[in-house]
Amino acid sequence: MTQNNNLISAVFRKEVLAMAAYKVADAAGLIKLDAMENPYNWPEASKKDWLEALKDCQLNRYPDPEARQLTETIRHLNQLPEQFDLLLGNGSDEIIQLLLMALPATASVLAPVPGFVMYKQLSDCLGLNYLGIPLLAESFDLDLPAMLAVIGQHQPSVIFLAYPNNPTGNLFSETAILEIIKSAKGLVVLDEAYAPFANASFIDALDQYDNLLVMRTVSKLGLAGLRLGYIMGNPAIIEQLNKIRLPYNINSLTQISADFALSNKVLFDEQTQKICAERAFVFKELNKLDGITAYPSAANFILFKTPKDKATEIFLSIKQQGVLIKNMSAQGGLLSDCLRVTIGKPDENLAFLAALRKSL
Ligand code: PMP
Repeated sequence: MTQNNNLISAVFRKEVLAMAAYKVADAAGLIKLDAMENPYNWPEASKKDWLEALKDCQLNRYPDPEARQLTETIRHLNQLPEQFDLLLGNGSDEIIQLLLMALPATASVLAPVPGFVMYKQLSDCLGLNYLGIPLLAESFDLDLPAMLAVIGQHQPSVIFLAYPNNPTGNLFSETAILEIIKSAKGLVVLDEAYAPFANASFIDALDQYDNLLVMRTVSKLGLAGLRLGYIMGNPAIIEQLNKIRLPYNINSLTQISADFALSNKVLFDEQTQKICAERAFVFKELNKLDGITAYPSAANFILFKTPKDKATEIFLSIKQQGVLIKNMSAQGGLLSDCLRVTIGKPDENLAFLAALRKSL
């Protein structure tokens, strides 16, 4: 065993040794409201058309390394002006990784906290200098003076701003974001993973700022199983990322399936509307409960605060009643006492609310 320990510490970087693997909770047998997935499946007729589209897929061949057809569909979907380029990733997770892999070893990476965990996880793994700046309490908006001070002092190579933010669900103030983009000497990535639920985007600002990139994913829209994200912006930046992208990172089944699904986007638009309507219902019901404060959300989940030191007990009680949500309280700071619920189908949301009521 000692020998094994020596082997491991001789082989792997200290940053890797210090990390913990990203854990995904087992949801078997539970109503799954923990991972911001779209709860709806497709109508049978759409499934049939999809399988038809897959029928001639040549699995013996490598995929199109440029995913040309899918790229065109995504450009069209986002009405991306011609002067910008687009890079596809195996989920936006992969794009975050690509971006960070391309930085010098001494680079700094800045993101507000609480934020999406992968910004820190991947920065730490690569030995980069990750700087997490707390959001303002209660409003969860950007602390602009603090962000600008860190930008001035550390000149981060990349700044990640999730818009809406995960796990808080809010849209940061637009003027603060623009100030940050203007002050930054490095890249600013607007991570619009939850854009389908928000009706807000920085795509239109791309032509004003060379250092701005907009990243999106099809995961929250309803295609989490495909693993497909994309980043849009300045071709000179995209060109660098393309150099370190693995040649076949988007497999053939994903290319065909995503192209099919995104060409039938009206299906998702209906589902998105239902999710937004349910979000309003769940928000209202949560705030009726004694001791619970739900925070306004522009995403497909809601963060809520429970009575002091009760979050884990409430989380476990809800789970015992058959509903899996996400316990955020262990992260501490602004997330102390907080739980996060993904908006599901109406009956799933009712089951969650009933379980929560019982656990209080
Ligand atoms: N960005 C944000 C803000 C997220 O919350 C997530 C997923 N939870 C991602 C990116 C990653 O999405 P994916 O890899 O599924 O595209």
